[in-house]
Amino acid sequence: MSQVPRLRDFTIVKTSSVHGKGVFAKRTIPKGTRIFEYMGQRVNKENLASDLANGLTSMIYVLSLNETIAIDGERGGNDARFINHSCAPNCEVLYFNETPYIYAIQALIAGEELCFDYKLNFYKEAIKITAEQKKEWFPCNCGSINCRGSLFLY
Ligand SMILES: [Zn+2]
Repeated sequence: MSQVPRLRDFTIVKTSSVHGKGVFAKRTIPKGTRIFEYMGQRVNKENLASDLANGLTSMIYVLSLNETIAIDGERGGNDARFINHSCAPNCEVLYFNETPYIYAIQALIAGEELCFDYKLNFYKEAIKITAEQKKEWFPCNCGSINCRGSLFLY
């Protein structure tokens, strides 16, 4: 796994009012800034359920990379894994060469919490859950006007 040197110190991790820990801007971050890579172990999505059952991951910090591969920030991850979800985010994930990076969609002010839209979905037939289960198991409390009530995209 490649290690990205931390050249710019934009953020700090601390307790969030949204959920658990969060990532906050230490200073003004201009719109369009690449803040950092979302690091973690590449895992085959088909193995996630068994990894969860075997205690290798809690699946709390899993980011989808493509149809077959996910990135598990719990294993080899960096601060990016603590970024909370919002249905009205100020950051987004952009992928370059199969590597996800967190970018500022808008200018962030010092003290502002970073968030991106997790857009959770399960590809193919891996796991089928109902709309009600999505809201029950992966609830969103972001408080935005257009909150979907779930971390799922649909
Ligand atoms: Zn929401």
